[in-house]
Amino acid sequence: MIFGSFMPDIEVPILFLFFDVGIENHFILHSLIGALTIGTLSSILATVLLYPIIASLIFRVDKNKVKEACKFTPFLAFSCMLGNVFHLLLDLPMHPYSLVLWPFVDPYSIIGVLVLVFTVDGDIKLGFLVANILTNLIMGLFMFTIVIKSRKNLWEKILVGN
Ligand SMILES: [Zn+2]
Repeated sequence: MIFGSFMPDIEVPILFLFFDVGIENHFILHSLIGALTIGTLSSILATVLLYPIIASLIFRVDKNKVKEACKFTPFLAFSCMLGNVFHLLLDLPMHPYSLVLWPFVDPYSIIGVLVLVFTVDGDIKLGFLVANILTNLIMGLFMFTIVIKSRKNLWEKILVGN
């Protein structure tokens, strides 16, 4: 689920580097179709192949435990898919346009509800900025609560579970 929830934003720096994009920095991985196919598939690969290495090397979690937890199962695939979908849902209220229903619905016809709330005098960039900060603040608070609540074996709990 961790890799899944990061995967859609993999395209943001890539698009930023190679294409002239401003705030429209989302593409196929931010569509349901892309998230359910390429996004989920690459998340599964990353989880099975990279996750045990990263978790044990950087976070000093027992490699065998991680490997065991990262074996390919239908549950793992489902979890990767959920991560991708959650990411899209979380992005939805805070972005000025959305590719969720691409290519069926015009991305510019879907404007995040938070962006609309914080747009003053038609300044949609400002609305986007405030909505973005607010969303990250809320997620940061959630993260903080989890960290405080499970300080013992924190990384193992977060990265492997139980
Ligand atoms: Zn995103």
